[in-house]
Amino acid sequence: MAKAGESQGAGRVKHVPQRTCVACRRTDAKRGLIRLVRTPEGLAEVDLTGKRNGRGAYLCHTVSCWEVAIKRHALERALRVGPLSAENQRDLLAYIRGLDGAEDPRSDAHAVDMPPHDVRV
Ligand SMILES: [Zn+2]
Repeated sequence: MAKAGESQGAGRVKHVPQRTCVACRRTDAKRGLIRLVRTPEGLAEVDLTGKRNGRGAYLCHTVSCWEVAIKRHALERALRVGPLSAENQRDLLAYIRGLDGAEDPRSDAHAVDMPPHDVRV
């Protein structure tokens, strides 16, 4: 006599999925981390919905984690892509720096849009 359901799972299934930052290895619920996804072109892209298809990797909302992930190629390893192009790296860093700045009121002083140098024509 086989017991129904016995073969299913270890019985310790967590309801909140835990993700790991590929830079600092901090684990958090999915929402606490930013998902990056591998595009068909082999680039790393921020996945704001968290639902895009493709291999994903997670990073904290911390600029330093993104820098570390890029410097150590942790992102490439996690996403199984080749070396990210300089442009791709710059885009990712620009994204997280923008986010970070937006949450930090101290950065207000630097947010002033400086007009380009006075160009004489
Ligand atoms: Zn982290």
